[in-house]
Amino acid sequence: MAQNRRDFLKTSGLLAGAALAGIPNSIYSKPNINFTKVGKMKLTFKPYDLTLKHAFTIATSTRTTTPVMLTEIEYEGVVGYGEASMPPYLGESQASAAEFLGKVNLEQFPDPFDMENILDYVDKIAEKNPAAKASVDIALHDLVGKLMNQPWFKIWGYDKYRSPYTSFTIGIDTPEVVRQKVREADIYKILKVKLGRDNDKQMIETIREITDKPICVDANQGWTDRVKALDMAYWLKEKGITFIEQAMPKENIDGNAWLTENSPLPTFGDESVQRLPDVIKAHKVYSGINIKLMKSTGMREAHKMLTLARGLGMKVMLGCMTETSCAISAASHLSPMVDFADLDGAVLISNDCFIGTTIEDGKISLTDRPGIGAIKK
Ligand code: MG
Repeated sequence: MAQNRRDFLKTSGLLAGAALAGIPNSIYSKPNINFTKVGKMKLTFKPYDLTLKHAFTIATSTRTTTPVMLTEIEYEGVVGYGEASMPPYLGESQASAAEFLGKVNLEQFPDPFDMENILDYVDKIAEKNPAAKASVDIALHDLVGKLMNQPWFKIWGYDKYRSPYTSFTIGIDTPEVVRQKVREADIYKILKVKLGRDNDKQMIETIREITDKPICVDANQGWTDRVKALDMAYWLKEKGITFIEQAMPKENIDGNAWLTENSPLPTFGDESVQRLPDVIKAHKVYSGINIKLMKSTGMREAHKMLTLARGLGMKVMLGCMTETSCAISAASHLSPMVDFADLDGAVLISNDCFIGTTIEDGKISLTDRPGIGAIKK
């Protein structure tokens, strides 16, 4: 099988394409390779702690670091990179990721292109662990894209120039810090403001004193009364807000559906939309969904969620955790097809160990490098 893949790459000219692109052939074929020993994928992983530039406060928690797990899948000398980002309030940790990844045996699959079977196997190893699963999914996508010498936006047939501006997230804070963050966000064309505590109006008024940029808000389930939530939606509409994300607790399906039906602003489900079946459940409860790789178990299911939501006529936004440019780059390949993107996770940290998709004047800028397009610093 491995030899067939190599023959395919040679006959299809992809190896020649790699040479033209300035990528050494050695990453695709080793000289004097022993075919009896190739054709096995090897997964490795190591923990890494992200340092946040600012303490980050949302309706339910505050933190200054984010634990991640960096993964690699090596196959015939080609290495795919992946990442699990695990903010503590979501229930995963470096320990749980290590335990999960220790159970993943990719050596039983001779062909990395057998992605549906491989990722189905990974998904069934244990329940939950969505970020750990995403770290395998992303590394596999990176590997397969590199074997094809193509970036994923091209494999999916997307136009990278359609990628939207990303919002820049402003956490709940004092007026003084909020003003400072808004000034730092100068290059960003849209702001995402965290609400859901007791100073919502103060947060918005502080920002509106400084800028008239479009703002979207994320209450992170912090509003519990539907009538007050609707009053707030009308007030926010007057303040030029674009949409409201996860206004009320995810369990309050009737309340969220009622708000969506009556709200002058579109609503998005985030905490309530984790994986593919949740898209159907979110239909008519929210105007749109927020897809994140760390919820969806990675790029493959995120792509299916995007397609399904579009088919249902829903809006789609693409979000992230605080992540390195590895996972941000992976998500960015879906960005040409979304209405809104919130992919500022790597710019919120001070120790990004990857170079990948960047933000240029507030706009998501994908590279043409193969796979997810992320390289190690
Ligand atoms: Mg959110």
